[in-house]
Amino acid sequence: MRCAVWAAFVAAAAALMGGLVLGGATWPAVTAGGLATLAGLAVGDRWMREPGGAPVLCYHSISDEGWVPWASCIVSIETFERHLGVLARGGFTVMRLRDLVAIRLAGGRLPPRPVAVTFDDGYLDNWVAALPLLRRHGIPATIFVSLDFIEEGENPRATLDDRERGRVGPEAVGWAGYLNWAELRAMQDGGVFDVLPHGVDHGWVETGPRVVASLSAENWRRLAWVQWRVMAGSKAGWYRAATPAFVPLGTPVRENAPALAARAWDPDRGLESDESYAARVRGDLERSKRELEERLGRGVDIFCWPNNGTNDTARAIAAEVGYAATTGGRGENRPGEDPRVISRLGVGDRIAGWRWPAAEALGMYAALRVFQGNYYWFYLLVGFAALRRLHGLLEGWRRAPTADLSAAARPVAWRGD
Ligand SMILES: [Zn+2]
Repeated sequence: MRCAVWAAFVAAAAALMGGLVLGGATWPAVTAGGLATLAGLAVGDRWMREPGGAPVLCYHSISDEGWVPWASCIVSIETFERHLGVLARGGFTVMRLRDLVAIRLAGGRLPPRPVAVTFDDGYLDNWVAALPLLRRHGIPATIFVSLDFIEEGENPRATLDDRERGRVGPEAVGWAGYLNWAELRAMQDGGVFDVLPHGVDHGWVETGPRVVASLSAENWRRLAWVQWRVMAGSKAGWYRAATPAFVPLGTPVRENAPALAARAWDPDRGLESDESYAARVRGDLERSKRELEERLGRGVDIFCWPNNGTNDTARAIAAEVGYAATTGGRGENRPGEDPRVISRLGVGDRIAGWRWPAAEALGMYAALRVFQGNYYWFYLLVGFAALRRLHGLLEGWRRAPTADLSAAARPVAWRGD
């Protein structure tokens, strides 16, 4: 909106000046018009640059293998390296999320152009690829893990570094799956990563009787929460199944929401009571905090809501449980915003719609600058969005004869944040 108004103002000012000059207006009129335009531009320029925002980036999977069924969650290794290059050399101050939060809570001043990097869900590739690349660029990060998705296993697995140094062959580096406790401990102790909680089961709940999809061979992996919901305990191996192991194909999927953000509905018991909902949220928040503190030996006071799903009640419970800040904000982490709320910027790949490495770097730079309050960069993002849309249309035409009708269920698919 701001950028549209500014573009309209600049266009109108240019048209006015053009009209005055070409229309043969007197010099005093041209001068008055010029001064008014300059004054407007000076005021508007301040409006277009409003420093103070502190972007917190949100990554998921860093991989070329793409085993995760939520395509928007995957960033290729080349794109990730391009992003790190921008963070390391683009004039930004990359901070630990906990330092950024502590300064905001204390009402202090953040360093110039602050950025923090976070990862959600605890994918194995964060150990295999993200950690070595972050270390190479000297960039700290935070990883949010869900307890039920931490794998069994006592030993850290091979990484990109091991492969590049010839310590293992390429076949020894695995990509699919989740992190184990040994890797999480090594990540935290290595000084690059802080490990913080992302809930126990990363669940969704059905919230009413309306059926919005039916489990099919095409959508069951994307709607994996339907399986997770009835899997007791560890869910880390769910993706290895070729077909749904717990809830069969053809099962109706009802209207739903992130589990910590809504009261659950059940065909027999109806809608969950407020008390039961609050107890469920409290149980998840307490267990997440306690287990990570016990296992990793460090205090935990930041929580990341699975699927970005939260509400005022859940936030109040989080504060009671001992979390100083939680994610799920929709602002820009500016000085006037509630410092207990962290707003994040989801990071994707193929900003122009196809693989174009230089565009990934430029797009990252523009997105960070817009978040930090320089709205001129927004025009570049609009350009990328237009290219992406055009590319999507062309791809759609190319694929039209085999279009997948289950795509109609997409609005309720888990977006994986
Ligand atoms: Zn998540």
